[in-house]
Amino acid sequence: MKNFALIGAAGYIAPRHMKAIRDTQNNLVAALDKNDSVGIIDSYFPEASFFTEFERFDRHVDKLRRANHAQKVDYVSICSPNYLHDSHMRFALRSGADAICEKPLVLNPWNIDGLMDIEKDTGKQINTILQLRLHPAIIELKQKVAQADSQHKFDVELTYITSRGNWYLNSWKGDETKSGGIATNIGVHFYDMLHFVFGALQQNQVHYHSPTCASGYLEYEKARVSWFLSVDVNHIPEQVRSQGQRTYRAIRAGDQEIEFSGGFTDLHTVSYQEILAGRGFGLEENRVAIETVSTIRDAKPLGLVGNYHPFLR
Ligand code: NAD
Repeated sequence: MKNFALIGAAGYIAPRHMKAIRDTQNNLVAALDKNDSVGIIDSYFPEASFFTEFERFDRHVDKLRRANHAQKVDYVSICSPNYLHDSHMRFALRSGADAICEKPLVLNPWNIDGLMDIEKDTGKQINTILQLRLHPAIIELKQKVAQADSQHKFDVELTYITSRGNWYLNSWKGDETKSGGIATNIGVHFYDMLHFVFGALQQNQVHYHSPTCASGYLEYEKARVSWFLSVDVNHIPEQVRSQGQRTYRAIRAGDQEIEFSGGFTDLHTVSYQEILAGRGFGLEENRVAIETVSTIRDAKPLGLVGNYHPFLR
């Protein structure tokens, strides 16, 4: 049985990590969050120590490490806001633990280089949650693409609208310096999946970018992709919105619609199973997606030219 510590325990995604730790028959020994709304811990690990101050959490984890205690932390799971991930990963590795970090791993590619040095110095490892790589529909698509003529480029249209209320722009998620902006915070899943399925990234153009919506064109070895992301409910097609739906996901690759709306939730547990079996996704596997979001963030939008997404019209 492995011992886990968790950073960001009061947040939205933390319970999926608690569930994954429990479902893989492991133990949560310590948790940190600056917010103390963490009653959810009782549903999973009521015996875990909880801290609202980093320094006390650090002291506790260090005590367990030095005493070679039965509860010495083997993994630190990181569910904090995006701009804190690299610092929390450094803490994990320097504490003698491996890290399991939420997406996006970091905001910029050069942050990955610093983390590689810490991996070398400590001999510990960073694993990331890239759950779409484990989704059966995406694995099937990857296989289909691998079997296609190697010269063929698929025409892909990716539309992802996941409505958020007014709170979004007033939280860290709406602050580009903390979340990286919409393409980083929400899009990173898809850019990673596109690279995983369609190979090396060759072109990256941005047509439109605002705090609530972004759209552009990406070209990969095996695909030309126009993409549209939004957190604005008004972008949901009328016939879908009139049925009360606040999310719209569509990926079309050639003549095929890829349906991956279901089966998202339990992919954290599958991610943990893979990591514990030594098949986690490491730092380098994140590089292309992080380069993609970093370029999108800094690009000057081109407007309606070239291969823009039809929703921009
Ligand atoms: P959230 O705001 O709900 O939770 C973040 C938590 O971190 C909060 O409880 C906050 O109090 C805590 N926190 C902030 N600063 C801290 C600090 N210095 N030390 C300790 N705790 C601190 O956000 P969320 O939606 O749970 O997102 C957390 C992470 O998970 C983000 O990186 C996000 O991108 C990622 N995420 C991944 C998925 C996925 O499908 N894989 C889905 C949602 C979020």
